[in-house]
Amino acid sequence: MTTPAPKKPESLDQEQFLTILSREDALARFEAALFPRELPGELRTLADALGSALSEDVVAPIDVPPFDRSNVDGFAVRSADLAAASEAAPVRLRLNDEVIACGVAPARPVLSGTTTSIATGGPLPRGADAIVMVEHTQPSGLRAIDIRRAASPGQFVSYAGSDIARGEALLRAGTIIGSREIGILAACGIAGVMVAKKPHVAVFSTGDELVQPGETLRPAAIYDTNGAIVTAAINENGGEAHFYGAIADDEAALEAVMRKALAESDMLVLSGGTSKGAGDVSHRIIARLGKPGIIAHGVALKPGKPLCLAVCDGKPVIILPGFPTSAMFTFHDMIVPVLRRMAGLPPRSEAKVSARVPVRIASELGRTEFVMVSLVEGADGLIAYPTGKGSGAITSFAQADGFLKIDALADQMPANAQAEVTLFTPHVRVPDLVIVGSHCTGLDLVTAPMAHAGLSVRSIAVGSLGGLAAAKRGECDLAPIHLFDDKSETYNTPFLSEGLELVPGWRRMQGIVFRKGDMRFEGKTAQEAVQSALADPACIMVNRNQGAGTRILIDRLLGDARPDGYWNQPRSHNAVAAAVAQHRADWGMTIAPVANASGLGFIPHAEEHYDFALVKARKQRAAVQAFLDALASDESRAALTKAGFRPA
Ligand code: AMP
Ligand code: MG
Repeated sequence: MTTPAPKKPESLDQEQFLTILSREDALARFEAALFPRELPGELRTLADALGSALSEDVVAPIDVPPFDRSNVDGFAVRSADLAAASEAAPVRLRLNDEVIACGVAPARPVLSGTTTSIATGGPLPRGADAIVMVEHTQPSGLRAIDIRRAASPGQFVSYAGSDIARGEALLRAGTIIGSREIGILAACGIAGVMVAKKPHVAVFSTGDELVQPGETLRPAAIYDTNGAIVTAAINENGGEAHFYGAIADDEAALEAVMRKALAESDMLVLSGGTSKGAGDVSHRIIARLGKPGIIAHGVALKPGKPLCLAVCDGKPVIILPGFPTSAMFTFHDMIVPVLRRMAGLPPRSEAKVSARVPVRIASELGRTEFVMVSLVEGADGLIAYPTGKGSGAITSFAQADGFLKIDALADQMPANAQAEVTLFTPHVRVPDLVIVGSHCTGLDLVTAPMAHAGLSVRSIAVGSLGGLAAAKRGECDLAPIHLFDDKSETYNTPFLSEGLELVPGWRRMQGIVFRKGDMRFEGKTAQEAVQSALADPACIMVNRNQGAGTRILIDRLLGDARPDGYWNQPRSHNAVAAAVAQHRADWGMTIAPVANASGLGFIPHAEEHYDFALVKARKQRAAVQAFLDALASDESRAALTKAGFRPA
């Protein structure tokens, strides 16, 4: 008998990815493996029960109010005594020698012809059946009052149990406890309730590269983002997260932590290590943790394909994709429904709006795709702008108001399609001012006072050309641009079209960036610096992308030379500075504020014009005027100058 050769880990990965499930199939199989299940209850004090779901009906143990009580400040009377009272014939009642304050049990009965002074909330004395408001009485000496109107029995009296009757079902199982429910329970004297036990969820991140926020970033490391995201999202959805930190990509270490965490919790959520990279081992460990094991590894979701769903001896075990946005989307789409069910909570309610998407969005056939969008108010309804910067980008979330879904069977969403947008917040918040185009840190300095004054400003970074296109379609108020026209050798103006006007912004000094002390560049002009770099074959440059104004300047300085690094073409000023600071390149061209912020050497070369294409039709809007005022203000100009810009 021959035994088959053990499979290599790689082929195991391949095999699992071959059976990619649709989003719906994966969720259905996952839920089928977990439910129905018993939801354990636990006793919680009222303060601790906020947000939990009641696991049992609550029955009122007492009457509320517990006694007949007065609703007003006045006098307790026998209504029959006042049957004949009128303006013309007031009835005089003798005051009993007692004042019933709140919390005071009455000692004397109200006999016919007498009355007792009573405060709001005071218990009705024996014999009395109505209250007369103090405003409707007149003192008659110290020992009596006159009353000029009749009183009906029960007037201004709340009877025992009229609010809540003993034995009444107060709250039903499944009710989510909010401040109102806490009020009802407190009124009945209930200090604790049985609620669905919050699932204890162990959370950890995997990856040798991860460092916890607050610690120093070592070279090639990144901050652990998923740990914080997942912990918060679990607590937001009825779970109780326990964070175990970031675990190195080491099979034995990982297995030990997974076993410990699983033993201590009801559910396990980790992130990273599900793709086919070296050291990605966590999904292999799952197979050894319990039955039935992996339910789905690979789901037709974008972002989120490497999601791994498993159940180990009744406990859900989930490996989220490593990229934070992917982790967040898959968590909300696939894990939240399961977590809420385990916590006894109803499905999350989501607000949706309809919006037009002005640009075409390509989509991969066969995968349900989520696209984050920013909402702006157009002439004829809401407009949704895709904000995604790729699955590695976390900042897309800050700009996004929600997301839209592209069906697995579609290969694109055509331009101007009407789409349903699921909001991240319960309501749409359309910004007062919309800026679409090239982003610059100087812009934040100008808009800061507006934001502090309560105006919401949305800046969507799509580059100069994207901004111009949006401005032409009237989808924004302003488009920041820095476009160099080769022919006229001028900035921006040649690119304006009908309906747009130029608002001068500021100048950004562009120049050669290098590490301080590098004698190939210190003390030289830009031309000399480039010649010196070209003379040294070991010198590596970092370029800029085709179409960037900065690229044109670099190409002119280089002439026909194509030194090492020429094809490294990042898309931002910051990436150039990072490459030089991290020794991946020795020089490049960026703007002065970015070079300064990175502590690098800088040789000024030429000024770039960063201006605004203003949509004329929107010029009179209050927020646009506020922006123009802010731009012209002394404060902004001083702040721009301080940061290294030159206001125009
Ligand atoms: P992986 O699935 O482990 O191959 O990770 C895919 C990508 O996500 C890599 O670039 C990781 O560095 C990144 N990543 C993984 N886990 C985290 C995390 N907890 N926080 C931020 N990025 C992460
Ligand atoms: Mg990893």
